[in-house]
Amino acid sequence: MIVHTILKPCWRFTMNFVTFTLRTDILLRTILVKKRSVYTMFIKKALPALALLALCACGDNMPKKTNVLNRNPPKNTATKPSPNNQPNQTVFTKPEQVTRNNQPGNTPEVTKRPEREKEVYTPPPASTDAAAYTYRSPQYYKRITDSIQFYAKPSYEKTVDEIINQIAKNPSQRKNPAVNSQWYASVNFNIRKPNFVVLHHTAQNSAEQTLFTFSITRTQTSAHYVVGRDGVVYQMLNDYVRAWHSGNSKWGSITDMNSCSLGIEIDNNGEEPFSDAQITALIKLLDYLKDQYGIPQSNFIAHSDIAPSRKSDPSKYFPWKRLADAGFGYWYDTYNLQTPPADFNALLALRVIGYDISNQSAAIKAFKLHYIQNDVSGTLNDYDKKVLYNLYRKF
Ligand SMILES: [Zn+2]
Repeated sequence: MIVHTILKPCWRFTMNFVTFTLRTDILLRTILVKKRSVYTMFIKKALPALALLALCACGDNMPKKTNVLNRNPPKNTATKPSPNNQPNQTVFTKPEQVTRNNQPGNTPEVTKRPEREKEVYTPPPASTDAAAYTYRSPQYYKRITDSIQFYAKPSYEKTVDEIINQIAKNPSQRKNPAVNSQWYASVNFNIRKPNFVVLHHTAQNSAEQTLFTFSITRTQTSAHYVVGRDGVVYQMLNDYVRAWHSGNSKWGSITDMNSCSLGIEIDNNGEEPFSDAQITALIKLLDYLKDQYGIPQSNFIAHSDIAPSRKSDPSKYFPWKRLADAGFGYWYDTYNLQTPPADFNALLALRVIGYDISNQSAAIKAFKLHYIQNDVSGTLNDYDKKVLYNLYRKF
């Protein structure tokens, strides 16, 4: 390394000097062959001065000679001394930087992301049938929700733009104090996918009311989908964004269920059966989501499962068996239920399934709301234990 550092400039100086001297000498011999006195004076005085100037000019500004040992240097690279006395590292520059460095004088063309196509929203037409809009009726909520959407949709797009700008930044632009090396880019990545589906009932009286609830900021709650009683499915958020539907929750060791799940609100006040059209539409939606994101059968769960002390939705009317038969969530075998062994630990079994057992009674209630349904007490009888034993071996 030292020999290379010292010898390279000396060698370059010598070669430049000799080349320059020889070229100048031949030229002068040709032109001034008959004026020997002028030629002699030039050789003695002017030539050393010119040689000195040439030496100064041929420093680092000289085009670098290609190393014969590296005939095919990688394109789009530049080297710079690395910090912390580490060996020199190759620095990969942005395409626009390469353009600027390699073609001086040319204005670099920086490629910009094309602007996202945005819709133009128009306010809903004024109502002509005032009688239909009785206070808190579906029409009432639809009317105000439609009005709110005039502002909500641009607000949604603004938030999406902020997210895009956030994730478009190179890691080197993020100030992470734990990183003390330069940025090495990986080329193998894509966006994270949801891996759970959490089902809710809305505890409201119409899908329109829920659409309204999720359209205003003060409620601070949302879901990706709302499934109406009539089987109409409303999508409110892109599947890849993080909805606010789980709240303080835990499943297994996951404590941020919003980050890994899709939230589906089912239009139901909690004290009524779910309509067939609604469950049919829900299953169709789940079918799509399971296929689209590779969500395992076990990961279709209830809000009450992940927040046992706080939540009890969907209600005991929810047809979990029908869903399990369609491939969403598990159900116990309805015949030949085995009696669990004497050392069967019911709490550990609940934990294996995913329940937070820090509040044992709440965990048991949540389990029974999902699988027993007609009894949601905080204790397990023999039948409940058989169901639990049968189920936990499926997870
Ligand atoms: Zn809920």
